[in-house]
Amino acid sequence: MLARAAEDRPTAVPAPNFDVVASLAKRRGFVFPSSEIYGGMAGFWDYGPLGVELKNNVKAAWWRHMVQLRDDVVGIDAAIIMNPRVWEASGHVAGFSDPMVDCRSCQNRFREDDLKGPPSEIACPNCGNRGSLTEARQFNLMFATTVGPVADSSSVAYLRPETAQAMFVQFDNVATTTRRKLPFGIAQMGRSFRNEITPGNFIFRLREFEQMEMEFFVHPRDEDEWFAYWVEARHRWWTDVLRIDGARLRLRPHAADELSHYSKQTTDIEYEYPIGWSELEGVADRTDFDLKAHAAGSGKRLAIFDEESGDHLVPYVIEPAMGVDRAVLTVLVDGYEEEQLDKESRVMLRIAPALAPIKAAVLPLLRNRPELVERARRLTADLKALMPAAYDDTASIGKLYRRQDEIGTPYCITVDPESFDDGAATIRDRDSMTQERVSLDLIPQRISDLVAGRSAWEGVPREAPAP
Ligand code: ATP
Repeated sequence: MLARAAEDRPTAVPAPNFDVVASLAKRRGFVFPSSEIYGGMAGFWDYGPLGVELKNNVKAAWWRHMVQLRDDVVGIDAAIIMNPRVWEASGHVAGFSDPMVDCRSCQNRFREDDLKGPPSEIACPNCGNRGSLTEARQFNLMFATTVGPVADSSSVAYLRPETAQAMFVQFDNVATTTRRKLPFGIAQMGRSFRNEITPGNFIFRLREFEQMEMEFFVHPRDEDEWFAYWVEARHRWWTDVLRIDGARLRLRPHAADELSHYSKQTTDIEYEYPIGWSELEGVADRTDFDLKAHAAGSGKRLAIFDEESGDHLVPYVIEPAMGVDRAVLTVLVDGYEEEQLDKESRVMLRIAPALAPIKAAVLPLLRNRPELVERARRLTADLKALMPAAYDDTASIGKLYRRQDEIGTPYCITVDPESFDDGAATIRDRDSMTQERVSLDLIPQRISDLVAGRSAWEGVPREAPAP
């Protein structure tokens, strides 16, 4: 009773609009607008009871594959506010900005690179006035705050706009305490903040979001090999672990004129959203830019001993960097399906069982039979010892199934009057709707196996290329 794999889906079906997914997310408690009772706040969203589970599962899948299953990557968890000199050395104070254009008529602001032509020649995308757009000026995306009781220019600090810099700044501490040799990586996940000019598209572009980034330090001569390795490894993570439809993913190498100031080569992993192909994750070759910049900025040596040359060298860095919220959005968009059944239609989230907020729901067929309810509750408790599980008897069985399909629960278990005769209950598979009768005592183990078997958790990373 294995469900269809994601790749079996008819790929001609376009991804649903963000509105459709946002409405499901709101209705079922995945994602709410932040401070909604006060009118919300652009670029900020909150995760609800199911959303926090989904998001944690996405993060766990990344951490497991990027850190725990590997010998050559370790993790850190750094402070969000760092010494402001970090952001001077990294180039963010001077250059982490987007070109911004103002409309003199309606006061709206736009990113120049989102406009379809030069500001002096086109109409304002909001009010339609011609000749009302200003020339572009650079707008720094970092949020500034002050630290300590006195607010003056010497107390200004920034909320980090990316998690990467902590890995460079802590390079020496990590390499020394873990006695590392090249190649090795440092990974981190956590909040980042960007004062985006135009946040929007649900949780695609936020002002407060989470990132998962890994800095992989290599011998400079091995940069190309490792760059290719990480592009492939990261692409496979999206298809094999998150089970995102490969037909809606593509790799896009950056043209020379769009590379960031620190990057020698970058390839984006893009997804075909309803708004078009957009970046999910970027793999960048940051060379020795950051370590050298921080060595110069701090006066400390950021290098590693190279046995071959008998000298210290500054490694190059390959960085896979992705956004957690964008991954959650992609899982929701990619999993969303409306299926026409004989008499009705159903909405379902066809997401990998490892990502599902609830793995199994127990649904008793007759809630006015106390002994049945008692057995079903006991089964739920047994399941909960192993995985997130739920009990629901508040509607007809058809409705209960629909509720679970819509939130991506891969398995529903119905306990019925016959359960007392045969000591068994029925497991129903979300995707195929096939049913299997399994002894009540064996159900928790059976569900565990099904969830694990289909989740690719056990997939070990491919061997590293021999540099
Ligand atoms: P863009 O050019 O679209 O502003 P970027 O290229 O600056 O984005 P990176 O700095 O490479 O983005 O960030 C790495 C990842 O972090 C992105 O692939 C994306 O998944 C995520 N990310 C970046 N900015 C945001 C944001 N404002 N909201 C949500 N996720 C983001």
